[in-house]
Amino acid sequence: MKSPEASNSVQHLPRSGIRRVFDEASKYPDCIRLEVGEPSFTTPQHIKDAAQAALNSDFTKYTPNAGIAELREGLSQKLRDRNKILVAPEQIVVTPGGVASVFSSLTALLNRGDEVLLADPSWPNYLQMTILLGAVPVFYPLRIENDLVPTAADIESKITSKTKVLLLNSPGNPSGAIIPESELVAILQVAKKHNLWVISDEVYDEIYFDKPPVSLQPLDEEGRVISVFSFSKTYAMTGWRVGYLTGPMSIVSHILRAQEPITSCVNSVAQKAAFAAVTGDQSCVSEMRNAYAKRAALVTKILTEKGVKFAQPTGAFYTMVDITASGMSDVDFVSRMITEKRVAVVPGSAFGPDSGNFVRVSLASSESDLEQGASRLAAAIKEWA
Ligand code: PLP
Repeated sequence: MKSPEASNSVQHLPRSGIRRVFDEASKYPDCIRLEVGEPSFTTPQHIKDAAQAALNSDFTKYTPNAGIAELREGLSQKLRDRNKILVAPEQIVVTPGGVASVFSSLTALLNRGDEVLLADPSWPNYLQMTILLGAVPVFYPLRIENDLVPTAADIESKITSKTKVLLLNSPGNPSGAIIPESELVAILQVAKKHNLWVISDEVYDEIYFDKPPVSLQPLDEEGRVISVFSFSKTYAMTGWRVGYLTGPMSIVSHILRAQEPITSCVNSVAQKAAFAAVTGDQSCVSEMRNAYAKRAALVTKILTEKGVKFAQPTGAFYTMVDITASGMSDVDFVSRMITEKRVAVVPGSAFGPDSGNFVRVSLASSESDLEQGASRLAAAIKEWA
């Protein structure tokens, strides 16, 4: 007898376009890898030492679901000092990465059939989560003329009576865009007018090239914003899996209930490492930030000199390059880039249905790879036109 089938939602889950590029590029050992979405740095030593100490002192049991008290206390100070978000430690939930913060929040907010507003382009996991939860993704456009910064008007144009959640991401992946305060205020007004929840994904909050980003939550007077952060990018801790969220207590308590059956709590040793990260010397954060800023300047200089159109990045570590001039689809373009030019980038359509005119370049790679890669990319757009 045939075994029963997997769930419809899982069967309909789109495969990540980033993973496909990764698999293809891995066949060519000389390929320059500009598709990666994680820091090129290693976790700073004092953070690893704290984890070691936690292990040696047998700090290896379950912790409270929302996270250990000292970490939540440390995070409430970080949120106050760096994000101007004033919350009690009880309003903070530590999660396995920022990804779980977004998923638990969506789980606590969505009923089947509710619509979720996602940027096109945006991080593909939002779409996957929306589908898994039986909700309906609706994309709002990010425009190259606006360097992929969303506008309140474009968001409002997609709202229906079924819209429940708006997902914002600043600094953005893959846009590299930071949403200015004036636009955040306008977007919040739209959220208020249509009574929406807003999930503000700020996992790249410490990676900016000029002015630090403004957090959404302090602008919210009504308690409709859930803010999501992570240790992954700020402290080069992608594999440790520690993120956190905060919002009004009324919804945070529900999010905590949603997290319990899925993950219970975050790895105890990783929480001790995160505590050392957030309360320790922050010079590692500015060193990495400066390195990303330098790489962004290098890539944008090359692209500008070669006359290639791109979205000016102001934060995170990505830039979206417009390949319209090549006359090719993004998927074909990326495939030829790998096989003929030995440079891997991600097709824009991996991030949204109307983003096929872009490819994403990650600024997390080394300067020499970025210099080579950006030059070959610019040359290919001209050569294949
Ligand atoms: N949000 C965005 C926009 C991301 O790009 C990522 C990771 O790439 C995450 C959230 C989640 O990161 P993590 O779960 O490692 O904290």
